[in-house]
Parts: sequence; structure tokens; C-alpha cells
Amino acid sequence: MLVLDTIRKAQEVLGQLKGKETIALVPTMGCLHEGHLELVRLAQKHSQKVVVSIFVNPLQFGANEDFDKYPRTLESDVEKLKSVGVQYLFYPNVHDLYPDGFSNQVQVGELGNRLCGRFRPGHFNGVATVCLKLFEICRADLAVFGEKDFQQLQVIRNLVRDFNLPLSILSCPTIRENDGLAMSSRNRYLSQKERELAGVVPKTLRRLRDELGTYPSATVYDLLATARKSLSGIEVQYAEITEGANLKTAAEEALISDLTSPRFFLAVKIGNTRLIDNMSLKELR
Ligand code: AMP
Repeated sequence: MLVLDTIRKAQEVLGQLKGKETIALVPTMGCLHEGHLELVRLAQKHSQKVVVSIFVNPLQFGANEDFDKYPRTLESDVEKLKSVGVQYLFYPNVHDLYPDGFSNQVQVGELGNRLCGRFRPGHFNGVATVCLKLFEICRADLAVFGEKDFQQLQVIRNLVRDFNLPLSILSCPTIRENDGLAMSSRNRYLSQKERELAGVVPKTLRRLRDELGTYPSATVYDLLATARKSLSGIEVQYAEITEGANLKTAAEEALISDLTSPRFFLAVKIGNTRLIDNMSLKELR
């Protein structure tokens, strides 16, 4: 695996491949787990060369968030990437991506203010900005994102559409632990006690799935009431059901069966750790 640790090196090496072989990019912040590796496998199915980027992007962290303590585990990340046959690791530093004088950012529309955006102002502008840079530097023909961060996936799809970026976006279903908790680099913040408590997140998703199986005529209101009950005692940032690609809040009285692409979204805090999850309600009806 070749490590490209500067923009210049990445542009040189990947620029020579461009047009001869297809390049897939898997953007990550490192501290890699099986979820990231599944993205890599999907990228490998669709492309001859795979570039994984590891960059903890300061632009997408708020002032009181965990940028400084975000886990950085380069050595074991490199081993994992080698074990699945990744050809290139792009590992730039902050100053290289954001040199003095850096001043332009992507402004994400309304979608960026919904769900996580309400609690993380500016977050999706930071995500879109770094992804635009990564796509361009790596000359990617396609990029792979996880449905675990579904709002981010939609922000990126809109970015590609609105700026006519010459790449395709693929998505990978959420990879979960045995009890159903979505894998996340942030899970390692959880103490043993908190990890047990975090089981309430997949349990809530299961309850909604069961309810829809039993009562196909359930409304948005019914499912949210079930979610709230399941989450009692937990700090909930939001529990919402959305409709459509732009993740608009669905009307409470709507029947799930009448919606075209209903999706349930959840963000909770367990201790100081913020956990998010989501699932489509479409296939469950
Ligand atoms: P991160 O390193 O957390 O920024 O994530 C990098 C990419 O991996 C994003 O596209 C995430 O959506 C994706 N990802 C993270 N966790 C999972 C998971 N459990 N299953 C699938 N994809 C994931």
C-alpha cells in the first residue's frame, strides 16, 4: 500500500492513473472498523484502484466537540487497510488541506440544517467542503459513503448533483455489532456501563420494525410515541421520521404506508458520547 501523505504526492500518483484505471475513494476519519472495511470492499467491486483517505477534518467539528480527542490510530488503520488490499492511503495534514488564507467553503442548503444540523451548526458545510477537496485531489471516479450517516450521504449526493462533479456516489448499508449497535469510531468512548445502555438504540429500531410488521396502518405519530417510550430515561437529541431525499419531517398524521421513502432517524447522548442511527421504513410496510 502506498501512503500519499501530501496533496502534491496524491495528485502526482493518482493523476497518472486517471483515464487508465478507475479510482474509487473511501473518505474516513480513521480509527477504522469493519464498517469502513465494508465500504472498501464495495469500492473494490466497482473500481480498479481504491484510495482510502484518513483525515480528521477540523471544519466539521464545533467548538465544544471532540476534535482534539477524536481517536487517532494510524498504525492499526494501516494494518487493516493492507489486510483488505487497499492500494493507496491518502493521509494529508491539516495545514496541507487548509493552508493560511484558506477562505472558501461549500454552503449546504436547507438539508444541512435538519436533523444533526440543528445540533451541529456548520457541520455539513465542513463535510461538503472537505469532500469536494478530496474528490478533486484524488481524481475519483466514484466515492463510497455509509448509510450509517444517511444525512451526510444525501448532502454529498446533492453536492455532486449541484456542482456537476464527474463522479458517482455509492452507499453501503450500516454494519452493526452483535447486539445491533451501529459500528462507530466513537463507540470506544463508551464505558462498559454506557455500552450496555447504548443497546437501547438498536432496541428502539427493532421495536419500530416490529410495530410496523404488526400494524401496517401505523402513523408517524404512533411510531414516534413507541420510540419515545423505548427511549425513556435517555437523553434524546432528536427522533424523527422523514420523507424524501431531502429528509423533510413527515407529518405526524401521515400513514407510513402512504409515504414514498419514510426513514427513521435518531440521535442520543449516552454520557458524553453522541450516537446516531437511522433505518428505512419502506421495506418494513
Ligand atoms: P467516519 O470515519 O466515521 O467519518 O466514517 C467514514 C465513512 O464510513 C462514512 O461514509 C460513514 O458513513 C461510514 N461508516 C461509518 N460507520 C459505518 C458503519 N457502521 N456501517 C457502514 N458505514 C459506516
